[in-house]
Amino acid sequence: MAQDVLCEVNNCVYNKSGNRCGATQIYVVSNKGKEAETSHETDCRTFKPE
Ligand code: SF4
Repeated sequence: MAQDVLCEVNNCVYNKSGNRCGATQIYVVSNKGKEAETSHETDCRTFKPE
């Protein structure tokens, strides 16, 4: 289980100072279906714009 999620998406409502995610949980999906080859093919579905 991830304890400290670092994230550089500055305009997400869950992004705290120091680039830490403050969400209680995050949902990460592959943008290539159910599998991914690289990290570039994954996305945070919990993202919510400010
Ligand atoms: S919810 Fe996702 S996009 Fe938002 S701060 Fe957390 S990891 Fe980053």
